[in-house]
Amino acid sequence: MARLSDASLDDLRARRPVADVAGRWVSLRRSGGKLIGPCPICSDDRQSRTAGRFEVDGERWVCAVCCDGGDVIRLVEKVQGLDFRAAVAWLGGAEVLDPEEERRRQEERERKRARRERAAAIFREKERERLFRLWQGATPIRGTAAEEYLRLRGLEPPPEGRLRAAREMPYFHGEEPDPRRPGKMRQRVIYTGPAMLAGIIGPDWRFAGLHITWVDPSRPKGKALIVDPETGEVLKVKKVRGSKRGGHIHLAGPFGPDARPTRIIRGEGIETVLSVRKALVAQGADLGATVFQSSVDLGNLGGLHAGTVPHPTLTQVDRAGRARPVLVPGPMPDMSQPGIPVHDSVTDLVQLGDGDSERFLTECALKRGAARYAREGRTIRNAWAPAGADFNDLLEGVAG
Ligand SMILES: [Zn+2]
Repeated sequence: MARLSDASLDDLRARRPVADVAGRWVSLRRSGGKLIGPCPICSDDRQSRTAGRFEVDGERWVCAVCCDGGDVIRLVEKVQGLDFRAAVAWLGGAEVLDPEEERRRQEERERKRARRERAAAIFREKERERLFRLWQGATPIRGTAAEEYLRLRGLEPPPEGRLRAAREMPYFHGEEPDPRRPGKMRQRVIYTGPAMLAGIIGPDWRFAGLHITWVDPSRPKGKALIVDPETGEVLKVKKVRGSKRGGHIHLAGPFGPDARPTRIIRGEGIETVLSVRKALVAQGADLGATVFQSSVDLGNLGGLHAGTVPHPTLTQVDRAGRARPVLVPGPMPDMSQPGIPVHDSVTDLVQLGDGDSERFLTECALKRGAARYAREGRTIRNAWAPAGADFNDLLEGVAG
């Protein structure tokens, strides 16, 4: 086969939109300016209506669990276990075009792409501003249902107002016809109730989004019960709006690009990190120069990876009926992509591994973090909660 020109590959990508191709395997739904849903590579439940790890934005896809992403060709490579040329053939093959036609199509694609990117950038910035107003309008956490939720988990709200509360937070799920715009759909609100809010700080230190936990202190663990009205499925009570890539939630300690902390204690979940902070406070530790932060998700703990590795035990069946190891984000970081910033002054980075997250994925994320943030004079340590428990469960065990 002749070398495929960039233009003919772009043409293939335009003819086989990633959303349509992914839609053969998983059910995607609209969320903000993107499509989200289960991941055709790593999700067990491909019809799940709650999964949001997989996102399609224009011609690109990304999975927060695989920590992988790319164009439609890469998606087919990963899902079908094919090499590049086989994936191109699977998609129907790239046409060989005469140079004139190639240029014409190229220009048309560029125009469309530029228009789409402008629209997406405007949408993202509007959503960011909307979320920032929500954050600014939220109440301090003291005396709210969100504080009760933390206390039910044996935790205390962090100082300095890093977590806030909303009394009536809408929970969007699925779509419904928009009465004001005939023929159009809008996001559907299926629940409204009190929530704990945390601001997500982007890799550039700007406000990037909002982490939301719906709470109900009348329930045993304080989490709201939110049920899909159609399927009866119990939905996750935590959501992120806006952008979370390379983002973190600052919970306590010196803050901002100009701060000079000496230690960062970083874990995936807000509750996990607050549990460790509580234990250290109880021991009388000097925490004046210690930052406590959540990485929002597991992928962010180590940032984007520079290559996948086979999972030691998980397998999936390929087209030929052979069991092959599932490829997961490996231990090497992609240093061209920004991660959560770590100050030059930090000499001690403590990464928390939750025992209730998948062990191998977590180990790879911690190794990526260790490689990403390594420098002379800095120690990077991992602290593990025992298998099957996160730090918050441990603390509750001690308290009980
Ligand atoms: Zn995935």
